[in-house]
Amino acid sequence: TTNDSKESETPRDKLIGGLLTEDFEESSCLSRYQKTLLYRKPSPYKPSEYLVSKLRSYEMLHKRCGPGTKAYKEATENLVHDDEDKASKYVGGECRYIVWLAGYGLGNRMLTLASAFLYALLTERIILVDQRKDVSDILCEPFPGTSWLLPLDFPLMNYTYRFNKEYPRCYGTMLNNQAINSTSIPPHLYLHNLHDSRDEDKMFFCEKDQSLINKVPWLVFQANVYFAPSLWFNPTFLPELTKLFPQKDTVFHHLARYLFHPTNQVWGMVTRYYQAHLSRADETLGIQIRVFRKDAGYFQHVMDQIVSCTQREKLLPELATQEESKVNISNIQKLKAVIVTSLYPEYSDNLKNMFWERPSSTGEIIDVAQPSGERFQQTDKKIHDQKALAEMYLLSLTDNIVTSARSTFGYVSYSLGGLKPWLLYQPTGEITPDPACVRSTSMEPCYLTPPSHGCEADWGKNSGKIVPFLKHCEDIMYGGLKLY
Ligand code: GDP
Repeated sequence: TTNDSKESETPRDKLIGGLLTEDFEESSCLSRYQKTLLYRKPSPYKPSEYLVSKLRSYEMLHKRCGPGTKAYKEATENLVHDDEDKASKYVGGECRYIVWLAGYGLGNRMLTLASAFLYALLTERIILVDQRKDVSDILCEPFPGTSWLLPLDFPLMNYTYRFNKEYPRCYGTMLNNQAINSTSIPPHLYLHNLHDSRDEDKMFFCEKDQSLINKVPWLVFQANVYFAPSLWFNPTFLPELTKLFPQKDTVFHHLARYLFHPTNQVWGMVTRYYQAHLSRADETLGIQIRVFRKDAGYFQHVMDQIVSCTQREKLLPELATQEESKVNISNIQKLKAVIVTSLYPEYSDNLKNMFWERPSSTGEIIDVAQPSGERFQQTDKKIHDQKALAEMYLLSLTDNIVTSARSTFGYVSYSLGGLKPWLLYQPTGEITPDPACVRSTSMEPCYLTPPSHGCEADWGKNSGKIVPFLKHCEDIMYGGLKLY
């Protein structure tokens, strides 16, 4: 086909500015190329040409090194014996790997997967995902002609229960015990980047650490935070990152649109809800409500917070006064559709009643709906996770979005949508925060538990003051790092 005919086949730019490859068959994963059809307006953020070319070379590397290849076989062989001598010899091998372990909720998983993938791009490794959890029920394969699923017979997998700080090849622990030096290269290392990580675990990306880690054929990652921002502290990565992402707050936005394509089952849920509730509205608003407390559920102070934030920020109209209600307002009644997502159905029920019982002061018609109300988190239950992903996608399709502070579910939703959210502060006790929310100036997720300082030369410097575009997050009181 000529370029012209391609143009006419893709009026809505189904490849999102070259972010996606054309090399997939469409029906196996409808969301991949159909997604742009649903966007009310295309994303104003275009991927850089450098990112596009980097992705295409990544895809070739993944094909060369992925499961089923000779290279993969050779690379796994020396893992069986866990032999340092052999690993040192293997160092010349062209393929190096990242194994990503699934853990925590879906939002956490997507943030860490994108972070690990960015690290793979920077270090020319390929990423393989632990498929014992339901990854393949919710996400399609992102790389053409190969697979990102780690084969089930992968030698280290029988030991997963051991992947924690006590694991003998945990990098941070080895550093602490001075059990690692450049004379012997271990065949694999485990990188622990969870909320309980020490700085030694979080600083694996620094220049000094990378000179050794780079040679290790297999890196096993377990994380539950969006650690991508910290990669910018490494002076070797920095120029590369700036070329890949000239607009610094688009990292997750582009990577997520490249990597995450909901399976047909999930996509069906997205499109059916979208057609039923969002497609005909003049304007749409997403509200994501996450209640972080042991006795989580419905709380009046949270309900008040939602109303206070949305009205103060003019995302929803006030209710009409008795006087105003008598007047027949306007003939042109704008329809605003609100999608609420929460584990609890009561928040949207209340909002819906509010706008049903009385007219709005602007005459707008407000339609409130919520796709599911699962009551409690059931991660790794297939249909539950599918609903969660469908809802993140639906939220990402709205014109404006309100999300809950420190929720990775919310982070994925707004960032995927290229939206700067209004963040609902986390209440202390049962008091509605005042102000109720803050508008974020970035569409990036927050790295909730970043290292407290930078790499070598920046040791001792507050990590929020090292590079001008990495600052503390608006939605948490202490620490947190975000790209702006
Ligand atoms: P976080 O805990 O808010 O950072 O987000 P995660 O996605 O990592 O974990 C929360 C999990 O709880 C989700 O993955 C879902 O399984 C479930 N959950 C929380 N809020 C919602 C919601 O609004 N809708 C749905 N369907 N599930 C939710």
